[in-house]
Amino acid sequence: MSEPLRQRASDDGGMKRDLEFPPVPEPLRVGVYDNHTHLEIADGENPLPVEENLRRASEVGLLGVVQVGTDLETSRWSADLADRDPRVLAAVAIHPNEAPRLAERGLLQDHLAGIAELAARPRVRAVGETGLDFFRTGADGHAAQFESFEAHIEIAKANNIAMQIHDRDAHDDVVSTLNRVGAPAATVFHCFSGDVELAKLCAQNGWYLSFSGTVTFKNSQGLRDALAIAPRELILVETDAPFLTPIPYRGRPNGSYLVPLTMRFMAETLQTDLDELCGQVARNTEAVYGQW
Ligand SMILES: [Zn+2]
Ligand SMILES: [Zn+2]
Repeated sequence: MSEPLRQRASDDGGMKRDLEFPPVPEPLRVGVYDNHTHLEIADGENPLPVEENLRRASEVGLLGVVQVGTDLETSRWSADLADRDPRVLAAVAIHPNEAPRLAERGLLQDHLAGIAELAARPRVRAVGETGLDFFRTGADGHAAQFESFEAHIEIAKANNIAMQIHDRDAHDDVVSTLNRVGAPAATVFHCFSGDVELAKLCAQNGWYLSFSGTVTFKNSQGLRDALAIAPRELILVETDAPFLTPIPYRGRPNGSYLVPLTMRFMAETLQTDLDELCGQVARNTEAVYGQW
C-alpha cells in the first residue's frame, strides 16, 4: 500500500499556515469514532504516516474511523485499507466537485459503476462523500452533480448501507433531491453546515448531523444553535482531516486524534456530561455503520 497518496490541495487563499501537527490532547474516558476522515491526504511539514495517524487516534480513545474516498482511486484505496485494518471502515464515492470533471471527459458513468462495485464489499459501510457543492462548482457543473448524487443515492439503497452527504451552499437542493429520490435509511450530513432550520428538517427525517471542528470556530454560532436543538440520537462527530482543525489549532493539520477537542467543546456547548455524550455518539455511529 502506498503511504499518503496525495498532497493537500491549497484551500487557504495563499495565507500562511502553521504546518505543525497540534499536540496529542488528553484522552477521552469513553471512546467515540471519527466518522469522516481522509487518511490518504498528506498535510503539514511532516505528514503523519497512516499508521501513526491511527495509533495516535487509539491513544486518545478513538474506537475507529471511517476513511472516505473522493474518487475511484481513493475509494479503492479506502476499501483496501478497511480490509486490512480493523480500526477502519470505508466510504466510497465520486466527490461532487469531481463529478463534472469526469462528465466532461465522458467518464462519469464508468466511474459510478466502479463505485457501485466497491460499495458491495463488506467493509464498505457508506456511500460518500456525495452531494452538491455550489461553492466550488459553477452552474455549468450542476447537472453532472445532480446526476452523480442521484446515482450515489441509488447505490447506497441497493447495498443497504449509509450515505454521507457533502453539502456546500446547496441545502435546499440537497433536501429536495433527498425528498424526491428517497433518502437511504441512514443518511448523514457530513461536516454539518446548516442552521436551526436544516437541523429541524434532519430531526423530522431522522437524518444524522455530523459535527466537525467547524462547530468550535468563533463565527459558527449558527452551528452551535443547530447542535443545541439536534436530537441527541442523531449527533455524530468527525474531523474531515486534514481539514477543519478545531480551536485552538484552527489552520494547522488535522487528524482523528484531535476529536477529543471537538467532543469536549460539544459537551460544554450542550452543558452535558462528556462521558454520557461520548457514549451516545458512539452508539449513534454504530447504528449508522454497524460494528467495526
Ligand atoms: Zn465534504
Ligand atoms: Zn471530506
